Amino acid sequence: MSRLLKTKALVLQTRPLGERDRLLTLYTMASGKLPAVAPGARKVKSKLAAASGPFTCAAYLLYLGRTMATVTQAEIETGFWGIRNDVHRYAYGTYFAELVDKTVEEEEASPELFALLFHGWRELENKRADIELLARCFELKLLSLLGYRPGLEGCAACGENRGKLFYGSASGGLFCSSCGGGGASFALTAGSCALARRLLSLPYKNASALRAHAFQKAELENFLQHCLQHWAGVGGLKSLSFLQKVGGADSCNKPKRQI
Ligand SMILES: [Zn+2]
Repeated sequence: MSRLLKTKALVLQTRPLGERDRLLTLYTMASGKLPAVAPGARKVKSKLAAASGPFTCAAYLLYLGRTMATVTQAEIETGFWGIRNDVHRYAYGTYFAELVDKTVEEEEASPELFALLFHGWRELENKRADIELLARCFELKLLSLLGYRPGLEGCAACGENRGKLFYGSASGGLFCSSCGGGGASFALTAGSCALARRLLSLPYKNASALRAHAFQKAELENFLQHCLQHWAGVGGLKSLSFLQKVGGADSCNKPKRQI
């Protein structure tokens, strides 16, 4: 049965559909991920053009047809211009959106996930944020919300929390050298584990104001990519290639506070 749905939503993805329309992937507050056609949105004078762009939060009125939703009205709440006007932030913001897109099923509402992306984009606009740490914070919180919170307190087998922990690719966990570090491809130092715990527990604003060594950031980035792949099945993201192409956060990090 067809019906109307009024909901706030974030645009995860937008692409042209034919000559006139756009096909949006929305993350709606009411129904989670939802594909929707925005008719006529490719026309410059269209009322739906602005609400069909990336990095948009808007109130949408959707007509839910048998096979596809259609946008009938939209009122923009936020355009995240601080992201759109900076290529590095644009790359990170696209990465956040693609991570959500790839890890959630359609029509499973989660206000927590909506808030995670909304506030993640908001903090990405903050010129003083360390956006590498913000990205690690986003990945950790996303994994945690999906039910895949990495064990960061110590060895997954014996609980040892001193010294390095080694990543076990078969189990996707961290182990001390006695319990399975032998065949591991990489390790996390105790400082990197502590940093990850802080990133997970702090709000974005505080997490992105922390300060960390380059090797800790590299260790965490590597570890979390393995976690996302192993636990959430995420791989081959287009946005990650784009992020690497534009040079990541090299040119816009301004860390402030030492942990
Ligand atoms: Zn152990």
